[in-house]
Amino acid sequence: MEQFCQDKITKIAIVGAGPSGIYCALQILFGFKEQNFSNFKLLIFDKAQALRTILPTGGGRCNLTNSITDIKEFSKNYPRGEKFLYSLFSRHFNFDTLEFFETIDIKTYTQEDGRIFPKSNSAKDVKDKMLSALRKFKNVELVNKNIVSKDELKSFDRIIICAGSKGTSELIESFNQPMKPFKRALCALKIKDFKYPKGVSVKSLDGDFIFTSDGISGPLAFKISSLNVDKNFPYNVSIKLFDVQQLFELIDHNSKKSIGNLISTLIPKSLAQVIVDDFDKKAAEVSKRNIEKYSVLNLEIIDNANQGEIVHSGGVELNSVDKNCKSKIVDNLWFCGEILDIDGLCGGFNLQNCWSSAYVVAKDVIYSIINK
Ligand SMILES: Cc1cc2nc3c(=O)[nH]c(=O)nc-3n(C[C@H](O)[C@H](O)[C@H](O)COP(=O)(O)OP(=O)(O)OC[C@H]3O[C@@H](n4cnc5c(N)ncnc54)[C@H](O)[C@@H]3O)c2cc1C
Repeated sequence: MEQFCQDKITKIAIVGAGPSGIYCALQILFGFKEQNFSNFKLLIFDKAQALRTILPTGGGRCNLTNSITDIKEFSKNYPRGEKFLYSLFSRHFNFDTLEFFETIDIKTYTQEDGRIFPKSNSAKDVKDKMLSALRKFKNVELVNKNIVSKDELKSFDRIIICAGSKGTSELIESFNQPMKPFKRALCALKIKDFKYPKGVSVKSLDGDFIFTSDGISGPLAFKISSLNVDKNFPYNVSIKLFDVQQLFELIDHNSKKSIGNLISTLIPKSLAQVIVDDFDKKAAEVSKRNIEKYSVLNLEIIDNANQGEIVHSGGVELNSVDKNCKSKIVDNLWFCGEILDIDGLCGGFNLQNCWSSAYVVAKDVIYSIINK
């Protein structure tokens, strides 16, 4: 391949060996291999162990992605970044990711709710397989180093930052790249005047949640925290516990039974005992207004709790990068993964942002080198 015979070796730096960094590295390595190009050196910097952050995902099972097939439907699961992702997903979507994983021996299955997991049900297995695929290449090196300023990356021709959201502001600021402050999303929530039954799970019309010792956790709590990330505490939420028409029908057929017992057929009894003031009153004697009141749980959210999937909203502003996640401010600088101002709900959406943005960046980096 004569056209690629350059004297100078192209030096590429990836900062962050999390899911997005390692996936980006693999896409670069496989891409160059396909093009028969080897005149490069790829260094991946991480202040900690590579792929350490994938280990707790999906409760240790690693919810790799989601099976929704329509790009727009899929993108609706991102409170921030929805439209930006259309373009990334049109170039690398969930099925492309699964195809790639298959090539590195990560086989997957789809759960009933659409979440996709490795067949091994093990995030550690995903970590091991990704790193073992990486180790098969010669021109790549993992370097244990905390990068705090652009000055440390001066000698590189291409720089990709995929350092996630924890403690990366200083590095981004050193590039003068505009960014929104990071805020925690997808976390459990603390509730004012907590009086609910600890450990009880509820399947509400708005989603599933569980009462903790001082608030709520589970998919609905995470969604509430994500959708309200820019609100100041305290704020109020109303959760539709059950279909009130269903209760009216139950009352029509069981008017002599107590309202508490009828509501206990729709939600856990221990919760009904807390929210229904006239629990033992005959259902037919309870006012329509009260019956409607019991179908909704009003909560005052006073803080985030340190529990949950905990991704962060905020990060590199999307209007400061092009459609390939390349900086519009600094030459030869790209971003991928959670460091971008993109975050999704629970269900494999955050990792899919990592895979898709990493792929697009890798392709653009390859293009910028081979076609320069
Ligand atoms: C408990 C938990 C469970 C989750 N479960 C899921 C799930 O099942 N499915 C899903 O889709 N998402 C899940 N997520 C979210 C998902 O883990 C993240 O979106 C994803 O890890 C982001 O990947 P990333 O590579 O962009 O950043 P990170 O995973 O944060 O990786 C960044 C890497 O960069 C390194 N780094 C940071 N700064 C520097 C620096 N200055 N110099 C050198 N290295 C640096 C860090 O050490 C780290 O290794 C979960 C998150 C949590 C916390």
